[in-house]
Amino acid sequence: MNIKRKFDLFSTGLVLLFIGLFLVTWTANRYIHSTTEELADFSKKLDFMTGLKTSLNNLEHSLREFLASPDDHKRTETNLAYEEFYRLVGKTNDFNLDEDELAMLQYLRENLDRFSIWLTAILYSARAEDRDPYIESLRMSLFQELGKRIEKHWDEDMKKIEEAKKRAALAQEKVFLLYIFSLVLLVGVVFLIRRTINRRIIKPLLMLSSSSHRIADGELDHYIKIETDDELSELADNFNRMADTLREKISSLESSFHREQKVVRELAILNEFIGYVTTELEFDIILRRFVERATDLLKADGGAILVHAPDGEEFFVSTSERVTREFLEEVLRMKGERINSLIELEEASMAGEEARVLSGGDVGNIIYIPLVSGAGMKGVLGIFSKEANFSESDEDTLFAFAFQAFQSISFQRELARMATTDGLTGLHNHRMFQERLSEEILRAERYKRRLFLLLLDIDHFKMFNDTYGHQTGDEVLRTIASVIRGSVRKVDFAARYGGEEFVIILPETDCENAFMVAERIREKVERYVIDVGGHKTRLTVSIGISCFPQDAIDKEDLIRKADAALYLAKEGGRNRVVLFSELPVEKG
Ligand code: GH3
Ligand code: MG
Ligand code: MG
Repeated sequence: MNIKRKFDLFSTGLVLLFIGLFLVTWTANRYIHSTTEELADFSKKLDFMTGLKTSLNNLEHSLREFLASPDDHKRTETNLAYEEFYRLVGKTNDFNLDEDELAMLQYLRENLDRFSIWLTAILYSARAEDRDPYIESLRMSLFQELGKRIEKHWDEDMKKIEEAKKRAALAQEKVFLLYIFSLVLLVGVVFLIRRTINRRIIKPLLMLSSSSHRIADGELDHYIKIETDDELSELADNFNRMADTLREKISSLESSFHREQKVVRELAILNEFIGYVTTELEFDIILRRFVERATDLLKADGGAILVHAPDGEEFFVSTSERVTREFLEEVLRMKGERINSLIELEEASMAGEEARVLSGGDVGNIIYIPLVSGAGMKGVLGIFSKEANFSESDEDTLFAFAFQAFQSISFQRELARMATTDGLTGLHNHRMFQERLSEEILRAERYKRRLFLLLLDIDHFKMFNDTYGHQTGDEVLRTIASVIRGSVRKVDFAARYGGEEFVIILPETDCENAFMVAERIREKVERYVIDVGGHKTRLTVSIGISCFPQDAIDKEDLIRKADAALYLAKEGGRNRVVLFSELPVEKG
């Protein structure tokens, strides 16, 4: 039921109540009025009867006085008393008389003239015997007869008036009780109305007001419970729905805010890492940082990375005992086929899809991401968490970071490689040679060890170029470089010095061995048959060797001494190895 209908019902009830109360008051008034009217009527009648009785008594008394000693004065008094009586009987009455009373009054009125004649005869007769019959008649017809009747009616009326008084008092009592009852009823109804309005309207309104304040203050979980089945409960429902909608909106805003925060954090970590990559040259250190950042990103406990570089070099870095090299190699082996097929995928997003498939079943507390860079570097990253299980979203997060970061690492390594190697031969370049030689000299000084420098120059290479062309010459340079690479140890360092000259640093060795290495290279080149479009030819090289600290005091000196030895090798007829230490002339 809506509020308007409730109010209509309420006002109708109120109107009916007032009509009822009006009727009760009106009826009570009527009742009281009728009993008072009756009492007044009886009182008037009694007054009349009393008057009549008194007047008759006066008349009888005056007459008796006159008869005892007749004189004018007493005659006048008797006449006056009769006049009074006569006037009383003739008076018009405004009260009700019963039949007997009416008959009595009727009798009086009809006989008044007769009584008057009798009285005149009594008062004015000179002789006593003339008066006596009239006195007797008057005594019989008026005083005796009427006196008795008046007395009887007066008694009756006295009784009636007593009864009427009782009735009036009873009526007043009843009406008083009725008023008390009506008052109680009115108070009861007003209380009931107040209670109903309070329960059905005021309380729900107050509740609605305080609840809406709480909702407005952000207490969106607050539920307004109003069951009035009207507009107020509708209003409460609407408030609840509004709070629900707000809650949903806020939670979706919060979750998108968290997502954005997460992305910002991921980007910040990625950014920081990429910045770091460009400042650090040691690849192992870069990889460690990579694993640490990936661990931070997932708030995990540690991880490891295994990388295969395109030049065949392998790297393994772990920050967790749980993720060992064997473990990762096993993963690589098991998933090898997939990783290989990943290499063929050019699209990064496609690689991402594959990554999810690859580790889809493995998502637990260890998560693996295969890594493939555009520069052909590949690997696998494993992140480990002691307690938490990773979610698919962690996988996505890790992939997004790892993919970008790995591209950057790989690109950086390629850049570093390009900056340190010679583009034609793949050996280290001149700048790297200079740096390495300085380092090796420092080390040799510190550990009191010897180090040898070999300087190699191709014999008559200008002529070769002129004969077979520069491209063939480049091919030869590559061949000689690979001969050199295949003839030295891991600790040795080979570089292209410039043009068709190469250098080799041999640390921690002796003179014989240095000579042997140089000789082996010379021989290999000498034996190597160059096929130029079916035409077969050969080349030779000359090599000069200097030794630190035996031949030179510093780097420049050492190079100069190797160059001097090379010069002598050329002078001596080429295709030979010359040790600076064996030159008698220069030694002085
Ligand atoms: P020598 O026996 O005295 O060393 O005679 P040579 O002709 O080799 O003389 P030199 O060492 O001065 O030769 C330099 C030549 O090497 C000049 C150039 O034609 C050739 N050369 C230098 N750099 C390159 C290169 O990158 N590619 C090719 N194809 N040839 C080069
Ligand atoms: Mg040269
Ligand atoms: Mg030369």
